[in-house]
Amino acid sequence: MAHSAPRRLTVLGATGSIGQSTLDVVARHPDRFEVFALSAQRQHDKLLGQCLQFAPRYAVLGDPTAAAQLAAGLRDAGSRTEVLCGEAALDDIASAEAVDMVMAAIVGAAGLRPTLAAARAGKKVLLANKEALVLSGQLFMDAVRAGGATLLPIDSEHNAIFQALPVDYARDPVAAGVRRVLLTASGGPFRTAPLAALAAVTPEQACAHPNWVMGRKISVDSATMMNKGLEVIEAHWLFGAPADIIEVVVHPQSVIHSMVDYADGSVIAQLGNPDMRTPIANAMAWPERIEAGVRPLDLFEIARLDFERPDLERFPCLRLAFEALRAGGAAPAVLNAANEEAVAAFLEHRIGFLDIPAIIAACLERSGTQTVDSLEAVFAADACAREWARAEITRRPVCR
Ligand code: NAD
Ligand code: MG
Repeated sequence: MAHSAPRRLTVLGATGSIGQSTLDVVARHPDRFEVFALSAQRQHDKLLGQCLQFAPRYAVLGDPTAAAQLAAGLRDAGSRTEVLCGEAALDDIASAEAVDMVMAAIVGAAGLRPTLAAARAGKKVLLANKEALVLSGQLFMDAVRAGGATLLPIDSEHNAIFQALPVDYARDPVAAGVRRVLLTASGGPFRTAPLAALAAVTPEQACAHPNWVMGRKISVDSATMMNKGLEVIEAHWLFGAPADIIEVVVHPQSVIHSMVDYADGSVIAQLGNPDMRTPIANAMAWPERIEAGVRPLDLFEIARLDFERPDLERFPCLRLAFEALRAGGAAPAVLNAANEEAVAAFLEHRIGFLDIPAIIAACLERSGTQTVDSLEAVFAADACAREWARAEITRRPVCR
């Protein structure tokens, strides 16, 4: 199909799982997409390879030593990519005049500022960084509206819902005849593990997801089902869906990526092999469809699809996320920050798997119901919750 000049893209978090899948899609369509800038925290080697392949105008690293190493590598290779360092540079590459779209694929709250900068600058924002939206909810959606940005979900469930909603959907489920939003969840690696075994699971076991290959933080979130909890809050903000119409359905095959149940009894689902290049390509080319390198779905090979109710005793994080969404105010920011701290401590063998929900619950108990109506208030709630979580972490016996 004929189209205009290539769209210029900034990838925030280019070296991560989503960043690499994004560049895989870009490489398949050099006529459509051009890389303007790439960012990473400290993986300069991987970023160097990406810079040499995609020749962006800018490369941003968070770590100054890594930035110096990248600059030396680029110089040796005769590259003209300019290396920048630090938070302000991230905002710049997300909001630069020359940029058409921004893939927000930094993990955690660290992604909020540049993603918000892209929204304020009216970019096409491809949102993978769900934590940014959980943290800042209303503020983020207000920035999208005020900046005239187009917000497209990359999270596979939300991209599926986006595809199952009417084209002119205006964040009003009632007007669109939506009865329920059905978020599917694989249940992660411990869906059927004996409950008594959960206390002793290792980071390696928690990161071994049955269907998806992802970064370590989101892999642990999938094992606790906090990932689904964050996604419930994400769906609330993206689609204007009240907590009461969002239902989580455990579907171990991860073939149906989510569904919308309408008042007339129709349930519209989006299916596909579990490969993030599908939602990435969908959002990048929207409203067109492009090849993404994804294997066609073979229904005969799959043969059956199973569904279960989530077990809230096994997965208390899912219950905590619903509670935080209903509580509103600072609660979702506290939930997210406490989770980030607890997951990092678990990955470093400093706490056990079951300490994760216990720490988050303790932090939520301390959180007030004050409204968070500014970015400063969001970051204050985030910082406060991190302190509470760190205190909880040090109180626990060190794991091996
Ligand atoms: P990842 O850990 O593989 O990659 C994270 C990227 O962010 C890396 O490029 C890293 O350099 C960068 N980064 C890390 N800390 C940073 C910081 N403090 N400042 C700046 N950059 C930093 O993570 P991922 O699995 O690609 O996930 C990225 C985001 O996408 C997360 O928010 C995750 O929840 C979401 N997501 C991922 C998947 C998936 O399949 N991987 C699916 C849905 C949503
Ligand atoms: Mg998801």
